Amino acid sequence: MDFEKIKEACDRYVEARMEELWEISAFLHGHPELAFHEYEAMRCLSAFLEKEGFAIERGSGGLETAFHATYTHRLGGKQIAILLEYDALPKLGHACGHNLIACSGLGAAIALQKMVQDADLCGTIHVIGTPAEEDGGGKIIMLENGVFADIDAVFLLHPTSATTRIAGECVSSTEFQIEFFGKSAHAQSHAEDGINALDAATLFVTAMGLNGKQIKNNTNYSCMIANGGISTGQIPAYTKVLCNSNSLSLKDLHKVNEKIRNAAKGSAMATGCTCEIKEQDGYAGRIPNQILADVCKGELAKLKEPVMDGMPYDLGGEDLGNVSRHIPICNLYVTIFRDHKISGHTDQFRELAISEAGYRCIEVGSKAMARTAGELFLHPELVEQAQAELKERLKNE
Ligand SMILES: [Zn+2]
Ligand SMILES: [Zn+2]
Repeated sequence: MDFEKIKEACDRYVEARMEELWEISAFLHGHPELAFHEYEAMRCLSAFLEKEGFAIERGSGGLETAFHATYTHRLGGKQIAILLEYDALPKLGHACGHNLIACSGLGAAIALQKMVQDADLCGTIHVIGTPAEEDGGGKIIMLENGVFADIDAVFLLHPTSATTRIAGECVSSTEFQIEFFGKSAHAQSHAEDGINALDAATLFVTAMGLNGKQIKNNTNYSCMIANGGISTGQIPAYTKVLCNSNSLSLKDLHKVNEKIRNAAKGSAMATGCTCEIKEQDGYAGRIPNQILADVCKGELAKLKEPVMDGMPYDLGGEDLGNVSRHIPICNLYVTIFRDHKISGHTDQFRELAISEAGYRCIEVGSKAMARTAGELFLHPELVEQAQAELKERLKNE
């Protein structure tokens, strides 16, 4: 068996199916649906795979707009998942290009299906439709509900600008809501009867400003006073401060979060107020995998796609990060605008996601993911090495 020839035949297969994939991509782009409401997208993506002979479970992990498609060629091999995202942004539509994520995933799935048949490889292809990446973290819910329990390796493409890359680390984050409670009084005639909750908020913001000099430069935070009182005639009895902290290291995030809690408690105590701290974990930072990245880069090179050196970090966040702490991931970012770096979540990015460059992104992405996953089915020891790498890395998290 000449596996290189088989992979080339799968490239041709992707090319032959591109019009269908593009049609689905255009449909998604023209019918943007928000997080947890991606009914039409789920219907058309799962229907496509069902027609191709995948077994489909709709509503996976307790989410109505999630699905889980599987195709096993021969029992006993690795379980490799290609993840799809298909939610859009309020007012902006598909300005993050999730139509391209979904359709490159479909293309990769059917090319990989042909590959396992042609090469008679042992393994199961999972295609998992994961809703609500932009808001709500669908993958986190699905992870908690066991959808990823048997998966050995995960693939996800995201469109990007500048040069194609394999994504490195990204930030973990926490959202804080801090409320200070004091006592109102007439600000002019009976100020001495009041307890000033704005003093507590001011002290907190000041403390965080000073604390900022003593944190690692992989970590950042920002604060704002969301409620500073009602009128100048009253001593403010209630104030609210919002704070977002983020870091490339979960350990360093936990350290800065402790500073935030202490600053809030100390500011309350210093002013005679009480405080209530609510915090909500954001997405966990991505843990990239060198073994999978190297295989994928090798395949991208064969496809003549220029790729950035290393695995560059970014300051974004995505719910794939949470998955990456359990299963090795290959998160490739394929360019839809080579000239220079531009921002996602913009009108320009949305238009690129339906352009010729978007078409190319689906084609290259489908081929690269199918080729890389095919290598993993052929050489299951690579998956084991990737899992060992993740295990080692988690010791330092
Ligand atoms: Zn986005
Ligand atoms: Zn996105």
